[in-house]
Amino acid sequence: MSSDSREAKATRIRHLLRTEGDAVERNTRTFNRGRYDAVAELEAYEEYRNRAREIKERAIENLPELIDEVAAAVEENGGTVYLADDAADANRYVREVVADADAETVVKSKSMTTEELEVNDALEADGIDVWETDLGEFVLQVADETPSHIVAPAIHKSREGIAELFRERFDPDERLETAEDLTMFARGFLGERIREADVGVTGANFVTADSGSIALVTSEGNARKTVTATDTQIAVAGVEKIVPTVEDLHPFVELIGKSGTGQDVTAYVSLLTPPVDAPSLDRDPVAPLSSESADERDFHLVLVDNGRTAMREDDQLRETLYCIRCSACANSCANFQSVGGHAFGGETYSGGIATGWETGVHGYDSAAEFNDLCTGCTRCVNACPVKIDIPWINNVVRDRLNRGGDDGRFEFVYDELVPDEEPGGIDLQKRLFGNYETLAKLGSATAPVSNWVGELGPVRALLERAAGVDERRSLPEFHRETLRDWFSARGPSVSRADADREVVLYPDAYTNYVDVDRGKAAVRVLEALNVHVRIPAVGESGRAPLSQGMIDTADERASRVYAALAEHVDAGRDVVVIEPSDLAMFQREYEKLLPERSFERLRDGSYEILEYVYGCLENGADPSALRRPERPVAYHAHCQQRTLGLERYTTTVFRELGADVLESDVECCGMAGSFGYKTQYYDLSMDVGDRLREQFTSPAARDRLVVASGTSCEEQLGALLERDAAHPVEVLDPARRNRTDR
Ligand code: SF4
Repeated sequence: MSSDSREAKATRIRHLLRTEGDAVERNTRTFNRGRYDAVAELEAYEEYRNRAREIKERAIENLPELIDEVAAAVEENGGTVYLADDAADANRYVREVVADADAETVVKSKSMTTEELEVNDALEADGIDVWETDLGEFVLQVADETPSHIVAPAIHKSREGIAELFRERFDPDERLETAEDLTMFARGFLGERIREADVGVTGANFVTADSGSIALVTSEGNARKTVTATDTQIAVAGVEKIVPTVEDLHPFVELIGKSGTGQDVTAYVSLLTPPVDAPSLDRDPVAPLSSESADERDFHLVLVDNGRTAMREDDQLRETLYCIRCSACANSCANFQSVGGHAFGGETYSGGIATGWETGVHGYDSAAEFNDLCTGCTRCVNACPVKIDIPWINNVVRDRLNRGGDDGRFEFVYDELVPDEEPGGIDLQKRLFGNYETLAKLGSATAPVSNWVGELGPVRALLERAAGVDERRSLPEFHRETLRDWFSARGPSVSRADADREVVLYPDAYTNYVDVDRGKAAVRVLEALNVHVRIPAVGESGRAPLSQGMIDTADERASRVYAALAEHVDAGRDVVVIEPSDLAMFQREYEKLLPERSFERLRDGSYEILEYVYGCLENGADPSALRRPERPVAYHAHCQQRTLGLERYTTTVFRELGADVLESDVECCGMAGSFGYKTQYYDLSMDVGDRLREQFTSPAARDRLVVASGTSCEEQLGALLERDAAHPVEVLDPARRNRTDR
């Protein structure tokens, strides 16, 4: 990526932060908090998630058979099924049905699949009046904008903005100010359109193969009106919406509203087996529902492929088809909370999972533009009701995009310097950040000169121009004496014979070359708990290349790490990791990179440092051997630590040692590894970080000792608060000096 395109991207992000950021943040964070509360009250939450996942896996596996089954069921009910290959094919069919009905007006309920196909444009080209009946979609239709969220499409719009829009467009008799005024106006306006309409178009959240029923989950009930008010109904659904039986709907109905907007149940869950028997609105409204009315109605189910069969055959993209479009991944995403879907989206879909959808239905170009807004923090993985590994899909697409890259201008400079496994042509910025260990090794070997040179103005300017490393960030300071050098010279202070336990401390690249002090603190803390420590020669985990989509390099690094640790795992030594993102590699991503048995052994034998300290204390180690925090603590856990559910060990250890701990409820600091260093994302990174700054400068937190578990979190907190943060293990270090007690 050139510096011009980086600047263009930064400008667009700044624009969205200014124009849409506040509304998006307010709404997505409300949804996200609602999800936390709603799922906490759902006792069988994990059970429902497992069941939902299992149903989707089975349904996609048996998709061809289910398509046949649903076609037979709908036809037996008196409807028609059309299997459309692509958008043009689907639109042609819909236009024909509308033309056969001599329709002039079509009403639609919200459907992302029809957005994907651009059905409205196709019908309008035939002179048909098309009206969106979902309030959010209606607002966007009037504003001539695209959705910025898959569930709440107008999430980026403020009440004032909508009032102004309605005033300009409709010149209403009365001033519309409150949300109720606006809703009632839209309701009246759309009520007339629905009564006049000839054809109703809906999507389908689910289609059941056994009965040919469609399930529509809405907040407004407009889908039901769209169906009952028109004699011709068309339901448009991706083929992935089929589930085998009506009973299979249960876990999804429990999960979809709670996951997306935090509602206990969405206001309307309609299960229709069309053609429906309900009389249409121009009949006597008190007439009994009769089977004859169904005979006069026309129902068409358009099942859309549009790339989905190819996604099903693609081992990496297949999971995308399990998505039930609840939006929990978007709402839980720190970057999405700042800029919304207009930054994330491709042509139709938005949020983390959009990369999978856009790649599948519109192709790589559509997925490319903002694919790297996903920082791989993994918070969405726990939010997703069907447990889709969204960050992994993003990694895969990033990797494939890298392979199609053509920015090879500086290749000759870097080929020797960056011994990665990638082909030529990868964006220089990605290659630089993906080879962090090599740079750190070189920086350490030449320190302090490397640190001095790195801070020179012309060097920073060149780094910013050529590789997009933002000049406003401080660069890491490399240590000449690495953690491993220090430990080799010093040796362990607790012998194997005297120790209660034996561990290998994983020397991640940052601890080994930059934050050597936290590595030394970890050694001293473990030894204070009577643990025999070793620090083996083992390289970078693969996190840095993976974050840039360099999967082959990450794969090679994973094999090397496992080879170096295997003898220790075999010998029953515990692997202790300081940096949460490296531990997350061992416990999550290595499943994709190592043989199953190797992955499982490393996963089961590795621990986060404070998790390990907690375990030692629980098993009888003497807590008085540790330094007690002398001041109240403001603690920020790392995103991946939270995903793994490990942050509680740090707070528990601190509290057991008598500390007053305030834990940040801001899930991401915005730095996210190399993300915040990139020129194009600096402003977004700081905007996300602002939420943490606000919390840690509040009266309840501002005089506390700032503690953070992640390298990048420490960096970001330093920039946000203009005071240093310490790693928890430094606070507990028996040899701690005042440095960490600021
Ligand atoms: S990926 Fe998961 S969380 Fe995101 S919209 Fe799909 S089902 Fe919901």
